[in-house]
Amino acid sequence: GGGPGGMTAAIYAKRAGMDVIMIEKGLPGGAVATTYEVANYPGFITISGMDLSVKMFEQVQALGVEVAFDEVKSTNLTEKIKTVTCFGEEYKGKTVLITMGAAARRLNLENERQYIGRGISYCATCDGALFKEKTVAVVGGGNSALEDALYLSNLAKKVYLIHRRDEFRGEEILAKQVRETANIELVLNSVPVKLTGDTVVKSLDVQNKITNEVRTLDLDGVFVAIGRGPDTEVVDKNVKLNEGGYIIGDENMQTNLEGVYVAGDIRNTPLRQIVCACSDGAIAATKAFEYIKRNKL
Ligand code: NAP
Repeated sequence: GGGPGGMTAAIYAKRAGMDVIMIEKGLPGGAVATTYEVANYPGFITISGMDLSVKMFEQVQALGVEVAFDEVKSTNLTEKIKTVTCFGEEYKGKTVLITMGAAARRLNLENERQYIGRGISYCATCDGALFKEKTVAVVGGGNSALEDALYLSNLAKKVYLIHRRDEFRGEEILAKQVRETANIELVLNSVPVKLTGDTVVKSLDVQNKITNEVRTLDLDGVFVAIGRGPDTEVVDKNVKLNEGGYIIGDENMQTNLEGVYVAGDIRNTPLRQIVCACSDGAIAATKAFEYIKRNKL
């Protein structure tokens, strides 16, 4: 993974003199690369997620880290020499750091899949520009949903922010901005129940959880921001997960398997933030280096 955890680990590992391959299936930066604005990463009052990702990646490249733009198919992590099989090539390593982040959760509406790319999106900064002067909805009440609503309010004519409670999970500073934005309408205590359209989405039915009343919102797009979940399908089944499906790492970012480390959002961490993923990555690379030295690998 080439998010902040993976890139920080690559920087630390390379500086420690190790040979490193960073495997990334998409854009370096991961979820950060699709974040409109980052305002809580020390050193920058605000910076776009893409710019921060590019800066991190430039540092990785300047150190001469090998980068493979490839997607992992499976992993065998129990042997002394670990195998990571990608669609392109197979890689062998004395240690492996798993830092593949978390994938966007779906609403699980009946025809949601059919409308992906046809009005349903999981990334406001990727797809927002397609909805200039249109009407859109954002679903969720966390930082992502609040940020997405604010971002889209600058592009779209109108933004409905649909949240299942009447209090936001996200930071108050963002919630206040949302409440003060004229073209954002809050649809609280409500959940999406039905998507309607033809080739593209035309409307979304939302049900008020208190009154059970159903309201139809005529719109052009729905941005789903209801959190992310770990995607460990390609991770060796011997790696222990917690009840939420996240990989368990100890304070050294060590998993239950020797030489296998974890960092960032895919870990059982109490705080999923860029700075935390970077910290995880630095610890994991340092501990991987010590493991290789200690075992004379
Ligand atoms: P999140 O904090 O887990 O919030 C998910 C939101 O979606 C919650 O409000 C939740 O409602 C709602 N939700 C969950 N499942 C739902 C469902 N099936 N139907 C309707 N609503 C549903 O996720 P996130 O906003 O993606 O953020 C993930 C992590 O990244 C968080 O730790 C967040 O702080 C961090 N992040 C930080 C920043 C920043 O610091 N600027 C920006 C983006 C993300 P309830 O509140 O009722 O549970």
